[in-house]
Amino acid sequence: MPQLAKRVGRAKPSAIMLIAEKAKQLKASGRDIISFSIGVPNFLPGEHVYAAAREALSHDSGQYGSNRGAEALLDAFLAHIEALGFAGYGREHLATGVGAKQVLYNLAEALLDEGDEIAFAAPFWTTYRDIADIVGARSHILHCGQDQHYKLRPEQLDAALARRPKVFLFNNPSNPTGMVYTREEIAALADVLVRHPDTWIITDDIYNALVFDDLGYHNFVFARPELKERLIFVDSLSKTYGMPGWRVGFMAGPQEVARAVTTLNSSHITSLPEVVTAAAIAALTGPQDIPRAKCAEFAARRDTVLAALARIPGMQCPRPQGAFYVFPDISFAFGKYHRERSIENDVAFCAALLETHGVACVPGSAFGEPRAMRISYTCPAAQLEPGLERIRDFVAELS
Ligand code: PLP
Repeated sequence: MPQLAKRVGRAKPSAIMLIAEKAKQLKASGRDIISFSIGVPNFLPGEHVYAAAREALSHDSGQYGSNRGAEALLDAFLAHIEALGFAGYGREHLATGVGAKQVLYNLAEALLDEGDEIAFAAPFWTTYRDIADIVGARSHILHCGQDQHYKLRPEQLDAALARRPKVFLFNNPSNPTGMVYTREEIAALADVLVRHPDTWIITDDIYNALVFDDLGYHNFVFARPELKERLIFVDSLSKTYGMPGWRVGFMAGPQEVARAVTTLNSSHITSLPEVVTAAAIAALTGPQDIPRAKCAEFAARRDTVLAALARIPGMQCPRPQGAFYVFPDISFAFGKYHRERSIENDVAFCAALLETHGVACVPGSAFGEPRAMRISYTCPAAQLEPGLERIRDFVAELS
């Protein structure tokens, strides 16, 4: 029998999807399951987005579109990034894709040859390592533990960049930790980045609309504009507008990178569909009250989750300031027993929690931090406190 390509062996199914699937199966079998596992926003875009999609459908040309993205969509994205604080970008600096995930995959193909190094901090979004593996790059992972609030320090970055990786990939606000870098922290890291001119910088900042406590969203180019010539900003409609299934992602960066991503699109996807494009323009240019209200709601939920976790003896959790995740340290439970079942690590903790108390969380090892687990608090409101209580009951039963 002929063999599959080696790269397929390197591609692993997402650990997050695996736990979400397990939770779904248990639910289908009649169990009462609360899922804190998947990072999907719990809201829909406003009616104006559906109206734009319906209108587009009524005169859809049925044709292929632009590899880069329709001009009206690029213009809407330009206005969006200008409002965020990016200056001096034109359509030629932009490209679109089927979600930020596909944009990141295109960027990996565009910037990394086989054997090249890509540096990023752990905890990291699982897909980073998977994409690097698929393109045959070497991941250099910079461990950022809870003692440093899961944030990268300038000296760590400096040491990593001294190895001259081809790409440094950065994520702010963070999935899975919910941590957000302050203006000062971003400026300190930007000062390091300017000293290492051989490395491309990708900032995957798709949670930029979900920053709490008036901290604001900051990017390295705001602090050091000279980084513009090698920095690529990645954004998406998924989390900001409650549109993950519409699959719209963007990048803004140097012209040659935008051109390369566009060229790869012509082989991979050709273009975004017309109806999706119309919906995306409506989301970007229409009223922004839903994203604003959701940000306030998630900040309040963050407080609820932290207050509940603080009541669980042993569970430590730095205070997240964005996205919709918390990432508590659960290592106090390792070596204990739950109903005679040994909790030797994060995977055993999450499996026992799901099977006995019906709460699905993602083991931290999926994100490169096996001492923790990720709680995504986008579940229906009525499930939030009961789910947290179940976690407390589970921990109380450890011996
Ligand atoms: N980047 C991060 C940090 C994410 O958490 C996700 C999705 O969970 C993505 C990128 C992918 O987003 P999209 O839905 O636009 O592909």
